[in-house]
Amino acid sequence: MSDTIEKIKCLIIGSGPAGYTAAIYAARADMNPILYTGLEPGGQLTTTTEVDNFPGYPEGIDGPTMMMQLQAQAERFGTQVRIGMATAVEFSTVEGGWHKVTIDNNKVVLAHTIIISTGATAKYLGLPSEQRLRGGGVSACAVCDGFFYRGQDVAIVGAGDTAAEEATYLANICKNVTMLVRKDVMRASKAMQHRVQNTPNLTVLYNTEVDEVLGDQVVEGLRVVNNVSGEKQEIALTGLFVAIGHKPNTDIFKGQLEMDETGYLITQPKTTKTNLPGVFAAGDVQDKDYRQAITAAGSGCMAALDAERYLGELGSH
Ligand SMILES: Cc1cc2nc3c(=O)[nH]c(=O)nc-3n(C[C@H](O)[C@H](O)[C@H](O)COP(=O)(O)OP(=O)(O)OC[C@H]3O[C@@H](n4cnc5c(N)ncnc54)[C@H](O)[C@@H]3O)c2cc1C
Repeated sequence: MSDTIEKIKCLIIGSGPAGYTAAIYAARADMNPILYTGLEPGGQLTTTTEVDNFPGYPEGIDGPTMMMQLQAQAERFGTQVRIGMATAVEFSTVEGGWHKVTIDNNKVVLAHTIIISTGATAKYLGLPSEQRLRGGGVSACAVCDGFFYRGQDVAIVGAGDTAAEEATYLANICKNVTMLVRKDVMRASKAMQHRVQNTPNLTVLYNTEVDEVLGDQVVEGLRVVNNVSGEKQEIALTGLFVAIGHKPNTDIFKGQLEMDETGYLITQPKTTKTNLPGVFAAGDVQDKDYRQAITAAGSGCMAALDAERYLGELGSH
């Protein structure tokens, strides 16, 4: 193997709360981590204005500032943060083997341990008015942003278990919730459908799609269309929650790492270990249930500790 190829003890792919927390721990354990940011430095939280639920910020903090602080904390202990995207991987299947990662299609690095924290991307409807009002009343995270709409009227789009669960979550804090379901049935489990039906301030509109999100700076309402009759109606409300799924950013790992049917990486219970030695996964990329900054950060910590133990057992640390 050529000596000119850079060899890294701990490579972290992704710069969200999971990646930076892993970096803080790995750097403090003298693992000299190198972190590649990907196309969204700072991750999903850079798309939100207010983070109110991350412990340690009694007044709340805006997402981009919080992520700059996490980066600074990781760099303080020596993490090298590099702009770049992992575009291909060739993982070793043997204990102690070097994992090969290509950055931006041209640079190859070898890593003894890899922490994958590439997150997941929320799906949106794709309407221009929806994109314009993201952060102004349109959100893809009810648990994160529902609180800002307490006592107000909101809508949620989606028909699966997550949408049903988020709809009932919103119904607990909002005045009225309208759930928009594209088909004439919900995909959610029967149990979740019963919960929805038994929630008095939650109304389901079937065969209904968003035609336009109304409002200039902030959401003021929705124009919806019945996709059977073609009839349109306007609903006055202040928040629109899109719950039509997430896409985990795992395409480059296909065929090498175990994933579930939607592409989430599978980790061994109570660890961040993937099916390959020395490859760990943290944050939303391996968690479709909680999807919060604090849980991502927690698993980032676990991944760094798992990687350190792995190196220790090999005698390379
Ligand atoms: C609108 C919105 C508001 C939210 N508000 C809150 C909130 O108030 N509180 C809360 O706790 N949670 C909130 N969340 C959820 C929270 O943002 C996520 O749970 C958290 O960011 C997940 O962290 P992560 O580190 O796993 O991944 P992400 O934040 O998704 O970061 C993934 C990182 O991986 C990088 N990446 C991807 N592919 C590659 C690649 N091939 N090579 C290199 N890098 C790559 C990306 O550039 C990015 O830096 C919100 C989410 C959204 C969408």
